Amino acid sequence: METSAHGITAPSAVYEIAGRRFEIGTRGFAEAIADSHAAHQRPRCMCLVEGIEMYVARLGDGYIVKRMPDTGSHHAPDCPSYEPPAESSGLGQVLGSAITEDPTTGETTLKLDFSMSKISGRTAMPTAGGHSDSVASSGTKLSLRGLLHYLWDQAELTRWQPGFAGRRTWSTVRKHLLQAAENKIARGDSLRMCLYIPEAFSVPGGHPNSPTHGHLKFPHPDCASMRC
Ligand SMILES: [Zn+2]
Repeated sequence: METSAHGITAPSAVYEIAGRRFEIGTRGFAEAIADSHAAHQRPRCMCLVEGIEMYVARLGDGYIVKRMPDTGSHHAPDCPSYEPPAESSGLGQVLGSAITEDPTTGETTLKLDFSMSKISGRTAMPTAGGHSDSVASSGTKLSLRGLLHYLWDQAELTRWQPGFAGRRTWSTVRKHLLQAAENKIARGDSLRMCLYIPEAFSVPGGHPNSPTHGHLKFPHPDCASMRC
């Protein structure tokens, strides 16, 4: 799970930075991350003896530590940076084509097969492929649903975290989705600035689990939508 401490967002792990080992949030960690970013050095996640290279990118006023593109399967299965090989999840179809991550800038460029603007008389929804169950509609561009699945995965909402128990409200889900949209570029613009995810709401006196009279919990991914 990604944890944020002293402006650093990183999966909870032990990192080797310039020959020293740190856990997130421990003394000197934030400085070491800032130094490694300035020096273009790569921390190593030490979930395995030999360590696996990570990279540091700017995130708002702080930094984020991320695994290198397509290296999730190199981590130990119990490491928060682990993910199954892209080929086995369908992500392999779009990595490097519809989804291109640049470790030097920390930005991920997304190619979309739908319009980001709403033009009178036209719909922003794709006319073909948008209702496919696949993450990709063409293999080279993301459908609206494919983008949503990608963001959901990037937000790590596909992993159960003990800390979510009883607390994974819509506002928590929304926060993680918006954070996942940081440093993502679509059609030349910041995805974060174009993304519309409905805010949490509650009605005084409403039942907390009622979707119409309380906090909305565990909504289906398709409840989020795009606005630009
Ligand atoms: Zn690891």
